[in-house]
Amino acid sequence: MSTRAYAAQNAKSPLGPFTCQRRDPRATDVEIDILYCGVCHSDLHQTRDEWHDFAPTAYPCVPGHEIVGRVSKVGKDVTKFKVGDIAAVGCMVDSCRTCESCAKGLEQYCTSFPTLTYNGQDKISGGVTYGGYSERVVVDEAFTLKVSDKLNLAATAPLLCAGITTYSPLKHWGAGPGTKVGIVGLGGLGHMGVKFARALGAHVVLFTTSPGKVEDGKRLGAHEVVVSKNADEMKAQAASFDFVLDAVSAEHDINAYLSLLKLDGTLCLVGAPEKPLPVAAFNLLMPRRSFAGSGIGGIAETQEMLDFCAERGITSDVEVIPIHKINEAYDRLLKGDVKYRFVIDMASLKA
Ligand code: NAP
Ligand code: ZN
Ligand code: ZN
Repeated sequence: MSTRAYAAQNAKSPLGPFTCQRRDPRATDVEIDILYCGVCHSDLHQTRDEWHDFAPTAYPCVPGHEIVGRVSKVGKDVTKFKVGDIAAVGCMVDSCRTCESCAKGLEQYCTSFPTLTYNGQDKISGGVTYGGYSERVVVDEAFTLKVSDKLNLAATAPLLCAGITTYSPLKHWGAGPGTKVGIVGLGGLGHMGVKFARALGAHVVLFTTSPGKVEDGKRLGAHEVVVSKNADEMKAQAASFDFVLDAVSAEHDINAYLSLLKLDGTLCLVGAPEKPLPVAAFNLLMPRRSFAGSGIGGIAETQEMLDFCAERGITSDVEVIPIHKINEAYDRLLKGDVKYRFVIDMASLKA
């Protein structure tokens, strides 16, 4: 079906109107009319082909993997949804479903690589997958999520990437009562990291380059906020953390954050800057620190996170924009000027 969307035509072009095709729902497919789609910094990286060495961008590229919408059609074998229900889709729309990772519910680490929601290889229709900056999407129900109708839907959309990407490593590395957790970078991911680390019961310290975000950091749940440009403030935190989650989108000095870890502490990267980050050996060796990474989260854990958010009333702090403001939003993301996630109101695409 012909579907209105917004796409980048090449790495240098702004995003603009584009029409893509969606398949007719198969027996296990759900067709979703998209209400809201969050704007992740990964959308910006990929429309500009900044992850070329890992996953070159195929153009036209329709980004968007924080999708919430209303079910408009269901295949005959669908059990999770009926027409009219609210459904959500995150960063993946399929995986091999049989490998060791998939069997463990870690579809994001599928050994054959999951089918990403956009800029992925579409195993069903062929060609490339197109994401959520569009009026509808068709997804196998196994890769759809249920969201609470008690939560604001626009503010729920960012949970599908920013939410799960921070929740998963915080859980994996045991953030909770008695642990000291650092969150680096107060953007889309970082502000969810602060909220989750606090909700899980950790002592939370936010590291930001932006003095203007100190008060927001505290409001969002940080016990302490450190302006990372201030050497004395950084020094006062040295070697005291169990876990630090780095959600920075650009080049920065990773060694400054490794120095924050105490014995056996872990620095986990979720930010995915374009260029490699050099690590000084002795920052790892002494005292036995770990440098790790984490990618989004599996479908079951994403549902767990959404249910956790519904119970606790946790959503993202959003600025809702019409789709024609998307290029302006990207410019603002690059300046760290986002409070704290842009979300596209997809009605603006149909207007
Ligand atoms: P974002 O909203 O743009 O936030 C990034 C934040 O990083 C900024 O708000 C800023 O926070 C800080 N920052 C930016 N430039 C910096 C610099 N030069 N030095 C130090 N700090 C800087 O981005 P996002 O959507 O949260 O995404 C963050 C990163 O995670 C991106 O690289 C994205 O691609 C990646 N990501 C990874 C996964 C995964 O699965 N691992 C999933 C989603 C996104 P302050 O103003 O507080 O310093
Ligand atoms: Zn994302
Ligand atoms: Zn697999």
